[in-house]
This record gives sequence, C-alpha cells and structure tokens, in this order.
Amino acid sequence: MLIGVPKEIKNHEYRVGLTPESVSELVGRGHSVQVETGAGIGIGADDEAYRTAGATIGATAAEIFEAAEMIVKVKEPQPAECAMLRPGQILYTYLHLAPDPEQTKALVASGVTAIAYETVTSPTGTLPLLKPMSQVAGRMSIQAGATALEKAHGGRGVLLGGVPGVQPGKVVVLGGGVVGFNAAQMAVGLGADVTILDRSPDVLERLATHFESRAKTAYSTQTRIAEMIAEADLVIGAVLIPGAAAPKLVTRADLALMKPGAVLVDVAIDQGGCFETSHATTHAEPTYEVDGIVHYCVANMPGAVARTSTYALNNVTLPHALRIADLGWQAALRRDAHLANGLNVWNGKITCDAVAEALGYET
Ligand code: NAD
Repeated sequence: MLIGVPKEIKNHEYRVGLTPESVSELVGRGHSVQVETGAGIGIGADDEAYRTAGATIGATAAEIFEAAEMIVKVKEPQPAECAMLRPGQILYTYLHLAPDPEQTKALVASGVTAIAYETVTSPTGTLPLLKPMSQVAGRMSIQAGATALEKAHGGRGVLLGGVPGVQPGKVVVLGGGVVGFNAAQMAVGLGADVTILDRSPDVLERLATHFESRAKTAYSTQTRIAEMIAEADLVIGAVLIPGAAAPKLVTRADLALMKPGAVLVDVAIDQGGCFETSHATTHAEPTYEVDGIVHYCVANMPGAVARTSTYALNNVTLPHALRIADLGWQAALRRDAHLANGLNVWNGKITCDAVAEALGYET
C-alpha cells in the first residue's frame, strides 16, 4: 500500500503521523511511504531521517494526498486537506467529529474512508489510542503547575517538593483516571503531599493499592472538594464523564476559599473544563488569574512535547496501521471489532452511531 504522511497544518501542531521508525516498519513489510518535506521537523526528524527509513519525500501536501491510498495524520483534516481527500482513500487520524459539523460534512462529501483514533476501543472498553495523550497531559500538568506556582508566574512561591525543614506543597488531583494517575505519579515523585479524589470505588482502590502511603485517596463530594482546595497549593482538574461536558467541581465562589497564588490546572478543559472560571488557553499564553488564583487551561497540552507525544501515539497507532496496510481496511476491520469501532465515515455515510446521533445523520 502507498501511505502518505502530510505535514500537520493546524495552528501550533508539531506532531507528525509517523515517526521514521514507524516508516521503517511499514517499508520492511513491503509498503511504500511518502512523507511531505519538513513533516517531521517538529519532532527533530528531518527529511534525511525519513529517507534513511525508506520513505520518499514529497514537495507538497497536494502531491501526498493525490498519490496515497492511506493518509496517516495526527489532527483532524483542515478544510484545505478535506478538499484533497478522494473516494476510497483511507484517512487514519484523530477526527473528533461529534462537535464539528463542518469537518463531518466535508468528509462525507469527499467519499473518504475515515478511521478515527479516538473511537478505536480495547477489549476492556477503554480508548487505547487516546490513552497516551492523557498520560502525557497528566504528567505535564504537574510540570505546568509547578512553574505557575513560581512568583514570577503569579503563583504563591511554593516548591512542590519542599526542602529538608520546609513542608512540601499540597497537590489535589480531581479524578483518578489516566490523567489523574499520571499527575499523581509525577507529584509523588517530586515529593509533594498528594491527595487524589474520585467517585469510583474501583478507581480509589486501585490508586490506594498502587500509591500505598505515598498519596492519599478520598471520595469526591462537594464538601470534600471544598475542604481540600482550601489547603491546596496546586489543584489538577482531571475528571471525565464519557460523552458529557466536564462537571463544574469548583465554582467562582469557591476560589475565595483558596490561598492567594494557588494554581488550578484544568486538564479537562477540552471537555469544557471542571472549574467554573476556566477558559481555554494556548501554549503561547497558558495562564491567567481570577480572584488571585492562577489558572492554566491549555487545551492541547501534548502538542508542547511533540516528540514524546508523537512517539507515544505511534506506539498505539502503528500496529493498526500495519494491519490496515497489510490486509486492506475491509479485512483489517472485519478481523478486529475494536478497530472497526474506529470507522467514522465510509462512502459518503457516517458509520459511527455516536457521531450520527450528535449531528443528526442516518447511519
Ligand atoms: P479517565 O476516564 O481515565 O478518568 C476520568 C476520571 O474522572 C474517572 O476515574 C472518573 O471516575 C473520574 N470522575 C468523574 N466524575 C468525577 C467527580 N465528580 N469527581 C472526581 N472524579 C470524577 O479520563 P482521562 O483520560 O484521565 O481524561 C481526563 C480529561 O482530560 C478528559 O476530559 C480528557 O479529554 C482530558 N485531556 C486533556 C488533554 C489536554 O491537552 N488538555 C489531554 C488529554 C486528555
């Protein structure tokens, strides 16, 4: 199969669909890969690295889109990219169609076969192609929070790990799923005083077993959250109710309970955020202040560590890419019901129930 990797064109997107190592794997199985010039610059992989891996380099996105039987990307196709997709071509990338009627319309009109990373499932019902980005964001949340706690960034001047003779900072993690677990791991590693709140008894049990005495767990109620944020130097918002907007766990009035210069990092901002005062920010200007509390609400945190994120993403996307290339998409999806859940658009139709329902299409 001929696989095309265009350079990502979404604002501030530095990741790339395939690493040189992934290209090598595909080429080793007899496939051809064409990479747009400069596509890997954001992860430190130049054209030469891709040539060495066995790819050919295309001068323009148009060249890649025209030739490829399968396009492998990271972000949803932008309008200029949608216009280059053609019937029968496979598009394998994050799509997030439910809140995006324009993109959905364009993909339906193109006749493309679109497989979305975010709806591929695992036998345990999780979303394995989303997980690495939650791991990255969870780990980054503590780095971002630690920086925001510095005086120069508006924070209260607390070092999370403390020093001998001075108590460590207090970190409260709301939601103990993938983001919350990874945030807690980083905070514990720094020597902070960590408490994780969740509503799922199973999650609380897993966390307590894993962290033992290195982190505390608590059942998440409004009363407990109010108590915990009053003590906290850093609060991480990491809750998710699948398919729904994030619940607002901290209101504007609650900010008055907090210490001036404390920091809120709202990782759940891509689902609307779990603090009432959150609004999405960018890496260029990640923080703002409300009532003396510093807010960090970057919606695409993994983009800042494009190299780590691209490699983490390829670890989970490559096995499916190989199967699709080896078998063709129909056979690959027939053999793997979890990969089949990734099919969102085929032959001018929406094939994912959740997307069809959200946007009023027939499946
Ligand atoms: P997850 O499903 O693994 O974990 C969510 C946890 O929240 C679950 O354990 C659930 O029990 C818990 N929860 C639900 N309601 C709660 C409540 N009221 N109080 C306490 N806990 C509650 O999800 P995840 O992968 O950890 O993702 C968390 C959020 O981070 C999602 O919105 C996700 O989209 C987002 N995210 C953002 C970025 C970014 O760049 N900003 C990157 C990756 C993920």
